Amino acid sequence: MQVRSQVASDRSLTQRLARAFIAVSVLIIATLVVTGACFAAVLGHFEPNINTLIAGRASMDSVQNGMLDEETGLRGYLSSGDQVFLTSYYQGRDEIARGNSSSINLATRPDLIGAILAMRVAQQRWFSEWATPALAIERAVTNPTAQQSFLLSGKALFDTYRTTETAVNTQVDADIAAEQTAEHDIVLVALAVVGGMLLLTIAVARRQHRALRAALVVPINDLLSTMRRVGAGDLTAQPTGVGPPELREVAAELGQMTMTLAQDRSRMAAVESEVRSQAKRLELIVNVGREISGSLSLRYVAEAVGKAALTISGFESARMWIINEDPRELNLLHDTNIEHGQTGDHPSLQLGDGLVGRAGQFGRTLATLSTGSLATEHRSGSSIAALAVPMIVGAKIIGVLELTSREPIALDESSLDVVHSLSGQAATAVEAARFHQSADELSHTDALTHLPNRRRLELDLQLEIARSQRYNRPIACIMLDVDHFKKVNDVHGHQAGDEILSEFGSAFAVSLRDTDTAYRYGGEEFCVLLRETDAEAAAVVAERLRIDIATRFAGNGGSPMVTASLGVAAIPSDAIDAKTLIAAADRALYSAKAVGRNCVVRATPSRIVHASLPRVRSRPTAGLLPIVVRDDPAAS
Ligand code: GH3
Ligand code: MG
Ligand code: MG
Repeated sequence: MQVRSQVASDRSLTQRLARAFIAVSVLIIATLVVTGACFAAVLGHFEPNINTLIAGRASMDSVQNGMLDEETGLRGYLSSGDQVFLTSYYQGRDEIARGNSSSINLATRPDLIGAILAMRVAQQRWFSEWATPALAIERAVTNPTAQQSFLLSGKALFDTYRTTETAVNTQVDADIAAEQTAEHDIVLVALAVVGGMLLLTIAVARRQHRALRAALVVPINDLLSTMRRVGAGDLTAQPTGVGPPELREVAAELGQMTMTLAQDRSRMAAVESEVRSQAKRLELIVNVGREISGSLSLRYVAEAVGKAALTISGFESARMWIINEDPRELNLLHDTNIEHGQTGDHPSLQLGDGLVGRAGQFGRTLATLSTGSLATEHRSGSSIAALAVPMIVGAKIIGVLELTSREPIALDESSLDVVHSLSGQAATAVEAARFHQSADELSHTDALTHLPNRRRLELDLQLEIARSQRYNRPIACIMLDVDHFKKVNDVHGHQAGDEILSEFGSAFAVSLRDTDTAYRYGGEEFCVLLRETDAEAAAVVAERLRIDIATRFAGNGGSPMVTASLGVAAIPSDAIDAKTLIAAADRALYSAKAVGRNCVVRATPSRIVHASLPRVRSRPTAGLLPIVVRDDPAAS
């Protein structure tokens, strides 16, 4: 059964249509043949037979009438001797002759031959034995007895003829009735057969129609629903591929087409995403370029470039190394792995040493491949563990941008081009910032805030500390760092950040006494030197400053909300010289950041750091630095 249905489903549409056509045609032809056979039987057999019999029957009647005319004429003639009666006899003879020749056809029927012969014999006997002798008698028989006897013998012969003639007529009537009955029966049977054949044809046509429908509807619906899904954008749609081979072929073609479309779409999506990421990278480059070209802060430039380089390349960490002239070596300017406040050990590298040293010396982009070997030429797709891109301005190598990753990165050529262009922009911006810094340092005044700069602070500190020590007077220092300033730049733009920093100059002028001096220490860090002030009094000033800043930059009218964290230290309570004073204030500042920002932290009096230690914002031990003010709810 299953094999049969399998065979049926393997039949092509053409075969199915041909089968349906043949089945219906055979039935129609059979119906026509049966109908034709019936017509042929009726027209070719029954109708001629019946007509022959009817014509024969009519001839028989003519013969009989003729015989009666002859017999009557002869009797009249014999009775009267009047030859007038012979007219009727001769008319009867003509009629008999015509009747005989017409009824000859009846003799072709086997069942009638015997009766007709008997009738002809009786007729012949009447003629020869009675009619012919009667005609030979020239006048009327006068002897009544002889006449009577002659007439009687004629009557006997005529009766014999009548009997045989009646027998023939009866047989002919019976034959006519039989032929007509047979004809009716044949017509009825033919009608029944034709009717049956027509019903069978309808049934077969219906069955073939259903089979064709079943074979076509499901696969066509399947194809339609697949097409609709594909039209709606679902390229995972595949037809189930059922039905006759032709439709299965259409389904296979549709499936293939959909797959090709899906492949094209994913190819297009890949191209589009590549174009998008290129555009994004270029946008990033443009934005970074715009940002860093407007900044004269070395640190800001380094941070922005490092961040952009990671986004573009996919590496994990970026370091910017700057070539120092005296001694000639590479110094680390920025490392994306070092968080805020952890300034690290300021490592340096010899030019020509390692990947970065060589890139810095020869001004060529170098890479360490995942295999560990050094590559001087980048091949698209090769796995890179570390990349060193020289930063060049004109013909001068000013530093190296180093990118590293634990997992090797397969950098494509266009990404490398973008990193090159970024390092070129960074080189120009760093050079500009460095010129600005040195010009700043020479001028002793910061151009943005109009406050004295770090160089000025260093000179003042030496003088003021020497004076305080000479007179045994306290001197205090407040280190101030703006909270989350990176975010301010990110959200409101670097220009807005600059404006805020410049406003800090005015903020200090309002909050500080004449004897106190505020310096721009670098970036968004400020230092306030408070003459003749111990740590306690300095903490009060610092708190006032904090409140002034929080109030001034409260974020009204859509302007950025800005707060600051402050660290306070003093000589002699917390430090012994300039370096330890700055370091103590810096640690206190770090502590203020750690506890939640927007607060003032005082350096502990018991913690005096030796002058030889570098300025490191190391994490203080909890409890050592008393928090004098703490407003930040996040830390509570
Ligand atoms: P926090 O100190 O609270 O930990 O966060 P922060 O976001 O302030 O972090 P950090 O001190 O490390 O970053 C200081 C940022 O200040 C880096 C740089 O984007 C920005 N900055 C430094 N100098 C300038 C400058 O001259 N102008 C502007 N607009 N921004 C600067
Ligand atoms: Mg800072
Ligand atoms: Mg800050």
